[in-house]
Amino acid sequence: MTAEPILTISGLNVDYGTGPTGVHALRDVDLTLHRGEVLGLAGESGSGKSTLAYAVTRLLSPPGVITGGDVHYHRPGAGPVDILSLSPDALRAFRWQELSIVFQGAMNSLNPVHTVHSQLTDVLKAHRPAMRSAERTARAEELLTLVGISRDRLTAYPHQLSGGMRQRVMIAMALALEPEIVIMDEPTTALDVVMQRQILRQLVRLREQLSFSVVFITHDISLLIEFSDRIAIMYGGRIVEQAGASEIYRDPRHPYSEGLLHSFPALHGPRRELTGIPGTPPHLSAMPAGCAFHPRCGKAHDPCADQIPVLARPEAGQDREVACWLHTRPA
Ligand code: SF4
Repeated sequence: MTAEPILTISGLNVDYGTGPTGVHALRDVDLTLHRGEVLGLAGESGSGKSTLAYAVTRLLSPPGVITGGDVHYHRPGAGPVDILSLSPDALRAFRWQELSIVFQGAMNSLNPVHTVHSQLTDVLKAHRPAMRSAERTARAEELLTLVGISRDRLTAYPHQLSGGMRQRVMIAMALALEPEIVIMDEPTTALDVVMQRQILRQLVRLREQLSFSVVFITHDISLLIEFSDRIAIMYGGRIVEQAGASEIYRDPRHPYSEGLLHSFPALHGPRRELTGIPGTPPHLSAMPAGCAFHPRCGKAHDPCADQIPVLARPEAGQDREVACWLHTRPA
């Protein structure tokens, strides 16, 4: 993908707590989202995926604290915006108009005592105060149609909709102000496999129609292989590999990426043996020294237990980065 960047994250560090009880949740995260692409973020629970989404949108609640790094939004036709320095008012406008988020379990976060109409038009009322009531209703109808729900469901309450429909309403809400970036944090995890894929196919179609960029976060790498342009894999709060989705599928370089690929059945292509990954992810308060994956890695060797591998290109000219001593040499 050679498109220009729309979101750049550089050297991002996040801790939970400070002093002797503080733990590192994100370390030296560098990531770029390009205009119009779907960037998948994969990793097991506790790898730092959701912390990254919360940090980028400045929604981290205490004791989470950003201790270093930069996050810049590259507004089309304007200079970069430093997200970490935005005032509260600027941040509030930024969050819905430029970047919106669909969180984990979002389909259960619709207000049960308000209709779909009232919840969709509330977003418009708050951010487009000049819009008249009839215009807000017309926009709400348009948004429902966009996500494949009949406009007559506007008067429905959340309990009258299926799980898949509630998730689509959340996506409609996220798209209400036509943001440039949509971050989706495990948005389809609670749905069955067929519904997950239907919603993701629709999301990809909407992305083509409306030209927004997507950061899609999930532990299920097989979904990302199918729906992402590029994939970044996280482990122990760091990015350990990033490359095009087809490169990761055909030729994963990091042993953890390989393990993830052998942990989920692929719906298409040749069958893979499901071997999983031995052991469990490390707790933030007991992160192993060196490469955090070394206690679980069948390829661990001499420098792995005491030197942290840096994300680097294994071969010059490739649009791929790996943090593994199998591909780089210790200094
Ligand atoms: Fe395995 Fe060593 Fe590579 Fe870590 S650096 S993934 S332990 S080979």
